[in-house]
Amino acid sequence: MQNSPTITIIGAGVSGLCAAIHLKNSGYKAQLYDAAAHVGGRVATDYKDGNILDHGFQVLLDSYPAAQEFLDLESLELTKFSPGAYLFTDGKKSTVGDPTRDPSFLFMVAFSKVGSIKDKLKIFTLSRKLKQKSLKEIFEAKEQTTLAYLQKAGFSEKIISKFFKPFYAGIFLEDELQTSSRMFEFVFKMFAQGSATLPKNGIADIPGQLAEQLPSEHIHLNQPVSRVVGSQITLADGSKLESDYTIIATQADRLVPNLPISNMKWHEVTVLYFKTEHKGFCKPIIGLVSAKNTLSNNFHFLQDVFEGHENMLSVSVVKSHEYDINELAARVRMEMKEHCKIDAGELVHSKTIKKALPDLKNLNYSMNPTETQLTQNIYLAGDQLSNGSLNAAMLNGKAAAQAVIDKIEGKVVVG
Ligand SMILES: Cc1cc2nc3c(=O)[nH]c(=O)nc-3n(C[C@H](O)[C@H](O)[C@H](O)COP(=O)(O)OP(=O)(O)OC[C@H]3O[C@@H](n4cnc5c(N)ncnc54)[C@H](O)[C@@H]3O)c2cc1C
Repeated sequence: MQNSPTITIIGAGVSGLCAAIHLKNSGYKAQLYDAAAHVGGRVATDYKDGNILDHGFQVLLDSYPAAQEFLDLESLELTKFSPGAYLFTDGKKSTVGDPTRDPSFLFMVAFSKVGSIKDKLKIFTLSRKLKQKSLKEIFEAKEQTTLAYLQKAGFSEKIISKFFKPFYAGIFLEDELQTSSRMFEFVFKMFAQGSATLPKNGIADIPGQLAEQLPSEHIHLNQPVSRVVGSQITLADGSKLESDYTIIATQADRLVPNLPISNMKWHEVTVLYFKTEHKGFCKPIIGLVSAKNTLSNNFHFLQDVFEGHENMLSVSVVKSHEYDINELAARVRMEMKEHCKIDAGELVHSKTIKKALPDLKNLNYSMNPTETQLTQNIYLAGDQLSNGSLNAAMLNGKAAAQAVIDKIEGKVVVG
């Protein structure tokens, strides 16, 4: 292309990578700069002694429209989680889900002890309703907390506290169901239409596959950016770059002068990995500690998910606490024993992600390209503009890239 404009993307998380891919597929080159030593941002995995240790339990919902667009799902060799969960309280186990293994997650057949017949019927009706509701309708619906939504829908207190709270705490990373009902409907619909999955080598395979679609010399790691002013980008080491168009695929408030500092709050999570003697559940399925006042939220066994993996238990803690990591591990160990009859074993790894999910109100599905423009040269991307999901991160990367393309090709005139 003649007189190709220079395009720079700050942040090689999923959003920045998808922006670069969309630009490349449209005939434009972009240079990516990331502060970290790896691509993928929050989507990362530690590989230690042959173990696959994701930075927090996160899954790819294979029904995400953006995942189908940007990823080759087949070559990720996804393991699908069973469409259900085991719930544990006081040493007793109940099963939620569909024993016929219909991939529509949350379709209830065996809902032993957890909810009334009325609850089961309501879940079935909700699932049918949300399958038919478009994503546009979901994100235009009146917003309320998920708790208020479930109560209004007539679900019993029992099913809310025993199932919805622990299950969605693991997804929203907050345990009071204060997250927007739009997110609840979106996630419920995605579960009903597909599966929660993990790639063969852990969640980092996702950004890995995205990065493979780009020339490696366009990705600059360990390069924190400190300032973006007009067409000039200043790196933390003081060096300067000229860029005709810049996409900031992370929070922009500390990079662009005169932007109000965002007071956005984030949900935090800690994941603990225990080397255990326990053989696991012999299928990939999520366990939930549904007793009150426990810190342990959801768990799974790595040997159930990754072929040939040594016995390892992953437990997520969502509730806030004041423990140091050893005290937390001791508490989790005690809860796993008391409620799930599982000997967790030795703590071998842990990770606390302070900024895991943005705490957002007035969620949207994704940005329109025109909404991503901040100034003449600067465009924004990232999940924090819409909703905390891989789907939104991907779509917002694409939207910002499209806005840049439209500007270059004279399809929009912006003052
Ligand atoms: C524990 C956990 C569980 C999750 N579970 C799920 C799930 O099950 N399903 C789901 O869909 N989503 C889940 N998510 C959310 C999903 O991971 C995010 O929505 C997505 O990764 C956001 O991508 P992003 O590119 O917008 O942001 P980020 O991943 O935050 O990327 C921003 C990038 O910008 C870089 N950066 C920041 N500042 C600078 C700077 N000054 N200079 C250069 N680079 C900079 C960072 O290093 C980072 O790489 C989860 C997230 C976490 C952490």
